[in-house]
Amino acid sequence: MANVDELSAARIAAGVAAGDFSAEEVAKASLDAIEARDGEVQAFLEVSAELALDAARATDARRAAGEPLGPMAGVPVAFKDNMHLVGTHTTCASRMLESYESTYTATCVQRLLDAGATPLGKANMDEFAFGSSTETSHFHPTHNPWDLERVPGGSSGGSAAAVAAGEACVSLGSDTGGSIRQPASLCGVVGLKPTYGAVSRYGVVAFGSSLDQVGPFGRRVEDVALAMNALVAGGHDPYDSTSQDCPVDFLEHLEEGVEGLRVGVVPRLMDAAGLDPEVRDAVEGARRMLEGAGAEVVEVDLPHIDAAISAYYVIGPCEAFSNLARFDGVRYGYQEPGCSTLAEQSALSRAHGFGAEAKRRQMLGAYLLASGVYDEYYVPAQKARTLITQDYVRAFGRCDAILMPSAPRTAFRFGEISDPTQMYLSDMYTISCNIAGNGGISVPLGLGAASGLPVSAQLQGPAFKDRVLLRVARALEREVEAAGTKAMGAVAPEFAGRGGEL
Ligand code: GLN
Repeated sequence: MANVDELSAARIAAGVAAGDFSAEEVAKASLDAIEARDGEVQAFLEVSAELALDAARATDARRAAGEPLGPMAGVPVAFKDNMHLVGTHTTCASRMLESYESTYTATCVQRLLDAGATPLGKANMDEFAFGSSTETSHFHPTHNPWDLERVPGGSSGGSAAAVAAGEACVSLGSDTGGSIRQPASLCGVVGLKPTYGAVSRYGVVAFGSSLDQVGPFGRRVEDVALAMNALVAGGHDPYDSTSQDCPVDFLEHLEEGVEGLRVGVVPRLMDAAGLDPEVRDAVEGARRMLEGAGAEVVEVDLPHIDAAISAYYVIGPCEAFSNLARFDGVRYGYQEPGCSTLAEQSALSRAHGFGAEAKRRQMLGAYLLASGVYDEYYVPAQKARTLITQDYVRAFGRCDAILMPSAPRTAFRFGEISDPTQMYLSDMYTISCNIAGNGGISVPLGLGAASGLPVSAQLQGPAFKDRVLLRVARALEREVEAAGTKAMGAVAPEFAGRGGEL
């Protein structure tokens, strides 16, 4: 029969419901694919084989008993390792939490399980989600399935690579400044950062609480829409006061195309220094495709967008410093042995528990929040945030979605970007969306003409219009596919079909 990596999430759920195959068979095929592929990709920090088989058998038992199955019945999923799932560790890829066992399950994880998904395990990431390459993981790097000598992007690099290598059908990541969209782009998969508040953050280890948002990866827009339906089912989560009810069916208008919709382009973003010409050409191509499909393309401006990275690297570290203060060597995580005072224990546990980037962010945050400094940086950063948010509101008065690159370039080699401030520019196209709180999605365009590596376009939409965003993304996906573009919605060729026979 088929290989599990050829099946969409909807096809798996339908196949399980119809009895074409059992959820247990799908789970075993996925575990087999991980076994055959992950030695090289290293997307996972922990494979939860027992949880996967238990969940799959429970799904099969429900079917046997004639009970209704969830919309993600039997769909194999992976979770970024900053999401709690009872029965697994939650390490945030940090020495600090190396032996930490989840004591509860995050709402986002639970909602996928409630929809019938099969939990394959926990995916690698940059330590505490600080980074754009997954190189800051304490445990090991993750390799880009399209070229093992290159990074998968980050910080949700494991989640993106697991889907690109066909080890998982769908995965969840978190995006504080681009950590879903940028690795999705580098790995040639679809990645959605929903509007802030659309998905509960309860049980997701916080980085920047006003910026963090959970979202799905999939090889196809439809898979991402299906996962979104599960994530918002149940509405507002009483455990996350910022979560909102967004009772929409993300599949409902997915196939309706872009006729009558307006797509905005921002000239200053397409002319930006640092944008690789092959990415620019591909995004220009996407613009023509959307136009060809009936969208009206309009020029819009985001005049304050150049301030987004600076504002982010003030607000993000301040919030991270506050959030990560809880790792004090007393209550959670790594505890330095042999200390004689609490102060010493706390200081040394933090010194030896956190890696370099996590320390850099916290030191920056501590400095920026000091009295006297605060007024110089934090206050102006918040003012910039307001201006950028207003820019978006104005722009979305004239269009339904904005088209731009997801990342300025394709996947880079390990160690190629060693200057942290250069690394920070990886998110030059994604950060403004977190600053303003609206949604953004990365859609694969195929392989770049020069690099032969995945290139993507990003679409950003107004707050709580993520359904329109998915619809435009689907229209683009269809056009890219119709153009005969290779590598659309596909598993990286080196891994396709390895293990995973169903
Ligand atoms: N790369 C950005 C950073 O390092 C964004 C990370 C994220 O979205 N979690 O902060």
